Amino acid sequence: MSARSQAHSAGRGVDNDAPETMTTHSGHRGLQMEEPLIFEMGSTGRTGVDLPPVPEVASKLGGLARQGEIGLPALSEPQVVRHYVRVSQKNYAIDAGLYPLGSCTMKHNPRLNEKVARLPGFSDVHPLQPQSTVQGALEVIDTVAHWLITLTGLPGVAMSPAAGAHGELTGMMAIRAAHEARGDARKRILVPDSAHGTNPATAVLCGYQVDPVPSLANGRIDLEALKAKLDDDVAAIMLTNPNTCGLFEDQIIEVAEAIHAVGAYFYCDGANFNAIVGKVRPGDLGIDVMHLNLHKTFSTPHGGGGPGSGPVVMSAELTPFAPLPYVVKGADGLRLVETEADQAAAGDGGQAYGRMRSFHGQMGMFVRALAFMMSHGADGLRLVAEDSVLNANYVLARLKDVMTPAYRGPCMHEVLFDDSFLKDTGVTTLDFSKAMIDEGFHPMTVYFPLIVHGAMLTEPTESESKESMDVFIDTLRGLAADAKAGDTARFIGAPYLAPRRRLDETQAARKPRLRWTPEAPAEAAE
Ligand SMILES: *Cc1c(COP(=O)(O)O)cnc(C)c1O
Repeated sequence: MSARSQAHSAGRGVDNDAPETMTTHSGHRGLQMEEPLIFEMGSTGRTGVDLPPVPEVASKLGGLARQGEIGLPALSEPQVVRHYVRVSQKNYAIDAGLYPLGSCTMKHNPRLNEKVARLPGFSDVHPLQPQSTVQGALEVIDTVAHWLITLTGLPGVAMSPAAGAHGELTGMMAIRAAHEARGDARKRILVPDSAHGTNPATAVLCGYQVDPVPSLANGRIDLEALKAKLDDDVAAIMLTNPNTCGLFEDQIIEVAEAIHAVGAYFYCDGANFNAIVGKVRPGDLGIDVMHLNLHKTFSTPHGGGGPGSGPVVMSAELTPFAPLPYVVKGADGLRLVETEADQAAAGDGGQAYGRMRSFHGQMGMFVRALAFMMSHGADGLRLVAEDSVLNANYVLARLKDVMTPAYRGPCMHEVLFDDSFLKDTGVTTLDFSKAMIDEGFHPMTVYFPLIVHGAMLTEPTESESKESMDVFIDTLRGLAADAKAGDTARFIGAPYLAPRRRLDETQAARKPRLRWTPEAPAEAAE
């Protein structure tokens, strides 16, 4: 038994002096500072910088000119610095500890990436600069494109999509454009019931009907049920591999053959590519189009809404329908094909449906992804896949006697538990995950995929050490033992030791309270 789990079984926290109920004079809790919003802290007359008074100028805005003060918070520089440092310390981050959020691939972002992304030649370029002055930046885009094509075995790539979901939209719009170019208006998209919510959302956004395909008891797609749904009205399937249960779809070749036999396309959600990068090329599996989350597979910090980058690799048949812009090699260097007229002049057979966004894509993400790829090399990228799978299986092997794996056998890069180990304990998946916060861990992904009851999807990623996984595993073992021993107090209402107690998620979404009230901080915390 490790020191950590001994401490756990010795009992502390809710059993002892109930320190979570202790109040302080300052409202702070140890080093966790309590403070109003920055908008509420400001007062007139304070400033961080001393600027000369603004000279009177005639307004050119007519009636739209500002009439008076707009009430921006006025604060001194130290107030601002402290505010943002405190806010950053409230944020759980991969740089602070293990972040087991399944499907999200919260892996370490090597600092080399950051160093390279901050080189002035990358960080200071402007998308409207003449192309002759940004040849290096275009070469980065082109080189990342080259490696994505090499790693996936698909010959074309659209680099501009800004995230995975945006990549899905790009890929599905290419599929729709390809069908329409043949005068073949199809209506349905097949989506397995374990899919990420963005898959059906994308299909609907493209004007298609979603036809769900059930999964088998072994967590893979039901091939016979899929075949029964196939006809010439099916435009595509959207399949994730490895799927969201953390399992390799071992009948993927048969899926591809069946889909192609009715003239439909195979869209693969490539968010889990980190489990197979360097080991298998999706193009060899019969996949026609797939997005890659550069911010997952190829590191780059993400979460909290961005930034992301979701390039889409495509088969030769779909590549003409990739959006603008894209980089081509011309007589005097690299250049961007940016408009329909450019494309017609380029004569490459392209029939782009327009652009997916302004400018050329997420430049900073391209630089980070390229730094990650080049520093790992081919052998290192293969190790990324091997170690991510090894780590998830280590977690599985050390927890399978106390938690309940949703499926038999080894997993890929993430391990899925259901809540049957909590049966009759009075503790739910939500309680269990909130108790993890008191233990200093970000919870895993919970209640996803939907097909597993009380799902807990755990992805350690390849960047965790055995030591950090052991502390995590010992903690989960301790919590599972507590739940089974009837020690429900530490679960119900958890977290107790975090800056905020459990939020009513429905109320927080529907009636958010955006103001901190100094008179009633406890109420505000509820
Ligand atoms: C993360 C993820 C997405 C969406 O990617 P974003 O970059 O967050 O838009 C889609 N599918 C799966 C399986 C994912 O894990």
